[in-house]
Amino acid sequence: MSVLEVSDLVKHFPIYGGLLQRQVGAVRAVDCVSFTIARGETLGLVGESGCGKSTIGKTVLKLMEPTSGKIVLGGTDITALKPAAMWPHRKRIQTIFQDPYSSMNPRLSAGTIVGEPLENFGIAKGRERDERVARLFERVGLRPDAMRKYAHEFSGGQRQRLGIAKALSVSPDVIVADEPVSALDVSVQAQVLNLLIDLQEELGLAYLFISHDLAVMRHISHRIAVMYLGRIVELTDKRTLFSTPLHPYTEALLSAATAPDPKRRRKRRATVQGDVPSPANPPPGCHFHTRCPYAKAECKVTSPPLREVAPGHHVACLLR
Ligand code: SF4
Repeated sequence: MSVLEVSDLVKHFPIYGGLLQRQVGAVRAVDCVSFTIARGETLGLVGESGCGKSTIGKTVLKLMEPTSGKIVLGGTDITALKPAAMWPHRKRIQTIFQDPYSSMNPRLSAGTIVGEPLENFGIAKGRERDERVARLFERVGLRPDAMRKYAHEFSGGQRQRLGIAKALSVSPDVIVADEPVSALDVSVQAQVLNLLIDLQEELGLAYLFISHDLAVMRHISHRIAVMYLGRIVELTDKRTLFSTPLHPYTEALLSAATAPDPKRRRKRRATVQGDVPSPANPPPGCHFHTRCPYAKAECKVTSPPLREVAPGHHVACLLR
């Protein structure tokens, strides 16, 4: 059963201009995106910078309001909930940041930082809170006596472990992880990813994992959604995506990533030219037609829907 269901999510940011500062357009950051995540599952959102993946994360976390669409968390429609009504549901969906340090008060001890949500949500305080925090430290691979240290005394990987402990403190069902390892060295990345996988197996957590890095996606995701200019263009399980990509943009992304096997490198010839168009003025029809090596006349006028072309394999391309 899905623990998070997102249907037809749209997020537009108005653009104002002219003497009267009227709305003259909109940045279409997220354009009708739908997906589900089951308990114990990781859905990866991958795409180039500016494709809308982080906006989806913030909207699902209710850090920004969607323009339209529906977000259902554990059976509760949270789309229109105001902050007070959302509060009891907040602990069910937590986040891990790319740079946890930026969200940590440098004047507070690490134990206080990790224990903050326990107090805020009225779950534990005083000695009980400290005991819970000590267990969380151990669970994420930190020594409990490090509770007395300050954030600047930890390494980047240890700070990310602190961020994970803080997110876990309120026993969430879903964690939105936005580029959580991209600032870390590769060896430390693997340790943090393995910790997240262990925690998922133990606690049944669902992850919405946002990254531009296909190697990271391959390590942690069960299914992967490829995004281009605010839309999902391909969604399938990890194995199928890497072995049988069907969307030309996915092909190009895989082609650009390091392919250790030279035969596969030869097979994947598709490359994309030019930059991603502006989401304030996306191309008509298929958004990808300006860069697609297979584009035909119809692609300039017809927007391909995301269709299931094989069990569990969804693609938005007129050729499929
Ligand atoms: Fe390329 Fe046309 Fe498919 Fe878009 S619909 S990805 S332009 S072939």
